[in-house]
Amino acid sequence: MHGDRLLLGPGPSTPYPEAVEALARPVLGHLDPEYLALIHETGDRLRQVFRTENPLTLPVSGTGSAGMEACLASLLEPGETVIVGVNGYFGERLCEVAHRGGARVVRVEAPWGTALDPADVLAAHRAHPQAALVAVVAAETSTGVRNDVAPLGPELAQTDTLLLVDAVTALGGTPLEVDAWQIDACYSASQKCLGAPPGLAPVTLGPRAVAKMRNRTTPIHSFYLDLGLLHDYFLASPPRYHHTASSTLAYALHAGLGRLLEEGVESVWDRHARVGALLQSELPELGFSLVAPDGSRLPQLTTAVLPDGLEDGPARTRLLAEYGIEVGGGLGDLAGRAWRIGLMGHAATERSVVTLLGATRELLK
Ligand code: PLP
Repeated sequence: MHGDRLLLGPGPSTPYPEAVEALARPVLGHLDPEYLALIHETGDRLRQVFRTENPLTLPVSGTGSAGMEACLASLLEPGETVIVGVNGYFGERLCEVAHRGGARVVRVEAPWGTALDPADVLAAHRAHPQAALVAVVAAETSTGVRNDVAPLGPELAQTDTLLLVDAVTALGGTPLEVDAWQIDACYSASQKCLGAPPGLAPVTLGPRAVAKMRNRTTPIHSFYLDLGLLHDYFLASPPRYHHTASSTLAYALHAGLGRLLEEGVESVWDRHARVGALLQSELPELGFSLVAPDGSRLPQLTTAVLPDGLEDGPARTRLLAEYGIEVGGGLGDLAGRAWRIGLMGHAATERSVVTLLGATRELLK
C-alpha cells in the first residue's frame, strides 16, 4: 500500500513536492542552532503570509486545533468572557474549547451555510464590552463560507477586547491581513493552503495579545500550549527547552512556505480564486448545487449538494479506490447529502478540477 492520492477534501491537501522532499532531511536536535535558525526563518516566512510584523510568530507543534487551543488557553483566564461567531462546526469548536478552559461564552450565530454579519458580532461586543476576546473563523471549512473579519479589528482596537481569527483554511488561500485588519491573534495549520503535511500550527500574536498574556494573574492551564513558554523556547536567547519539537515537520513547512512565497502571496490568492471559480461554475452542470451563497463562497473549499443518482458513501469509496481522489463528506444537516471539495495549496490547480470532474462524470454514468 502506498496511498498515492489526490487530496481534494477539506484537508490535508496534497503537499508541494518540495515539502515532501524536505521530510527526508536528517533529524536535528530540538536545540540545535540549525533547527532554531530554521524556526526563525520559518517565522520570517510566516510573517509574510500572515502579513504581519509580529515578532511572536511561530509554528506550534500539533495540528490546527493546537493553534486554536494555544491561543484560547494563552489569552483567556477562567471566568473571562469570549464572544464567538458560530456559523459552522469550527465556530462550535471554538466555543467548546473556550468553555472547557473556564471562559464564559457568548455566541453570535448565523445559520450554517451563511456568513456571519460583522455588525452582529460588533453589537454583541457592545452588549458585552468587558469581553476579553472576540473569536471568529475566517473560512468555515464545514460549509465553505467566508466570514468577513476585516470590519471587526478597527472597532475592537479602540477597546480592551482582543480579536482572535481562525485562519486554518484561510491562510494562503484567500486574502487575510493580520496587521492591516488589526487582528490581535491568529492561528492556522500546515496542511491546507500552505501546502505542507499536517503537524504544525502557525500562530501569530500582536502586541496587545502579548501584553494580555504577560499580564495575566492565573497561569496558562496548558503547559504544552503555553505561548509564553513557546516564545521562550523558540525565540528567546538562549532558547529554553520546552518540548522536543520536530525538525522534520519544520523543514516541510519551511519548504511549503518557500514555494508559496516564490509564487507570491497575492498570486497564490489569485490561483485559488481562479480554480475555485472554475470548479463552482462546472459543478452545477453535473447537477450539484452549491451551498454557500455567491459573495461569501470560499474558492478553496466548496460544499455542494449531490445530484440525484450519486450516493455519497459508495461514490466517495469509488472515487478513492478507482481514481485515488479524496473529497470530504458533508457535516451537520449536509451529512450524506453533500461533498466538501478542497482546492488548496499544491492541489489548487485546473488539473485537479478537470480530474475530479472527469472522475465524477464516470460515477454518474
Ligand atoms: N479550524 C478550522 C476552520 C478547520 O478547518 C480545522 C480543520 O479542518 C480546524 C480548525 C482544526 O484543525 P485540525 O484538524 O488541523 O486540528
